[in-house]
Amino acid sequence: MNKKQKKVLFRIILAAVLIAVLSFLPLKGYLKFGLFMVPYLVIGYDILIKAGKGILNRQVFDENFLMAVATVGAIILGDYKEGVAVMLFYQIGELFQSYAVGRSRRNISELMDIRPDYANVEQNGTLEKVDPDEVKTGSIIVVQPGEKVPIDGIITEGTSSLNTSALTGESLPREAGVGDEIISGCINMTGVLKIRTTKEFGESTVSKILDMVENASSKKSRSENFISRFARIYTPAVCYGAVALAVLPPLVRMLAMGLTPEWGDWIYRALTFLVISCPCALVISIPLSFFAGIGGASREGVLVKGSNYLEILSQVKYVVFDKTGTMTQGVFEVNGIHHNELDKETLLEYAALAESASSHPISVSLKKAYGKAIDRTRVEDIKEISGNGVTANVDGKSVAVGNTKLMESLGVAYKDCHQVGTIVHIAIDGAYAGHILISDTIKAHAKEAILALHKAGIANTIMLTGDRKNVADYVAEELGIQTVYSELLPADKVTKVEELLERKEGKEKLAFVGDGINDAPVLSRADIGIAMGALGSDAAIEAADVVLMDDDPLKISKAIRISKKCVRIVYENIYFAIGIKIICLILGALGIANMWLAIFADVGVMVIAVLNAIRALFVKKL
Ligand code: ADP
Ligand code: MG
Repeated sequence: MNKKQKKVLFRIILAAVLIAVLSFLPLKGYLKFGLFMVPYLVIGYDILIKAGKGILNRQVFDENFLMAVATVGAIILGDYKEGVAVMLFYQIGELFQSYAVGRSRRNISELMDIRPDYANVEQNGTLEKVDPDEVKTGSIIVVQPGEKVPIDGIITEGTSSLNTSALTGESLPREAGVGDEIISGCINMTGVLKIRTTKEFGESTVSKILDMVENASSKKSRSENFISRFARIYTPAVCYGAVALAVLPPLVRMLAMGLTPEWGDWIYRALTFLVISCPCALVISIPLSFFAGIGGASREGVLVKGSNYLEILSQVKYVVFDKTGTMTQGVFEVNGIHHNELDKETLLEYAALAESASSHPISVSLKKAYGKAIDRTRVEDIKEISGNGVTANVDGKSVAVGNTKLMESLGVAYKDCHQVGTIVHIAIDGAYAGHILISDTIKAHAKEAILALHKAGIANTIMLTGDRKNVADYVAEELGIQTVYSELLPADKVTKVEELLERKEGKEKLAFVGDGINDAPVLSRADIGIAMGALGSDAAIEAADVVLMDDDPLKISKAIRISKKCVRIVYENIYFAIGIKIICLILGALGIANMWLAIFADVGVMVIAVLNAIRALFVKKL
């Protein structure tokens, strides 16, 4: 509990003791009034001040106003004890609520326990702890076993295993050694590491993730917006309703029926009506549920950038995947080199040199297969044609490396390959020089992931790829993906997604899952863009609405399940709170419910709704 909460708790106890004592004294008249005003002001002064300020600012209708009117009214009617007690229980409810919100916030930051407090910099042989913000790019920092890696960089000395569970939800440690990239937020477990930083703290993975989590609550879901609009209409409506309840029935009794008006009785009913109508449970529990949902997801390595995205995710009916890097590992192996005029080594060398600047998975794999250091001075004039390949000048010869589309556009007659696999054709000085057959492996959990999606109620799974038809069909068949479109250019992927968007009905939503490499336009075009393997890829963190920290496709269905649970809880709370309110309002208007019941119903509903909201933090294992 923080200081403010402790102070409220003290006031609650003091007021409760005073009320108890006063109830036992045989008090009458002004003395009774005066003595009851003490606990009333102790517990309620801030509410009265806030209500007064609200009236001055012309924002009359809020909870403080409702409470102030109801309790002052009760006191004027002579129900001192009830007036004070209503205020007391209202404060108890408020205290509980602020405690719960604080708890779940802390829970999230504990789950996201990745913010480093310091970085060790070596100076004159001793380690000095400095603020990570002050470390310049290119500095050498030291991370000891048990410490968090504060800044992204490259390991220059040492080997260790890293615990990435706070980032990815994955509990298996990762081994890392000299030359490996290392991202901030992991915990170094075994060895001492020296790291040359490649980014500033503010640009490092850990800062980006924390920013995202902190900003997530500012993107409101439709249900949250609904509630704030609802409260704007609801509270005034209730107030006017209360006035009508206080005035109309007595007038009718008096004028039309010739009975005694019983003003006191009807005013009391109207005040009860006001207490019941306080919408606290709704106002607090909905944002809290989303907050808890986002927190629960982040513990599983799924970052959701706002509650609106969590809501959309729960309505996803179509999931569209990119192939390379999403369903497959994006690490190609060379299976053969065919129709080559030059010897195989030389052909691979030309290909690797031409690819020297590209970061496409194919390019990375070709360079790896070549295996030697690349002399960039031999290469000039590199052009990468998205979805086609690259052209470059190598040793003064013009070299083209890519698929059939590239060969056709250059007017080179190529030889087809009948084996299943991705083909990289090579042309040198306009003449065909052969092709390299490469193949990718399907990710370990990909098949399970598709199955889990269908189980989670996804109507259709669709794969888009720029790769050859025979590879695409093979992968889709292996995985049980229902629809596949192949040999698409990046722009065609956008068109395909637009077509699919046209076709869906009503509230159905379409998600696109990609790896953030050359699919940013599609990520932003879909109803919701999910990027995977975000560790190390800034592009993915920027472009997507939901980021899967590692590249395990099983996380997609997990994210959908989390969102569904969270949204279910939100609706449970809405129906529960509104339902109880309506029942109490009717009972109050009929004079069956008194103010005691009213305040218990209000605080009780709120406590239950908040506890229910917190359930969204926890995710069942599959
Ligand atoms: P995917 O849909 O599988 O992610 P891309 O749209 O990135 O594929 O690329 C589609 C196709 O374009 C690849 O299968 C490959 O044939 C060709 N291609 C793209 N970039 C390159 C490159 N750098 N080198 C060779 N071929 C490439
Ligand atoms: Mg791709």
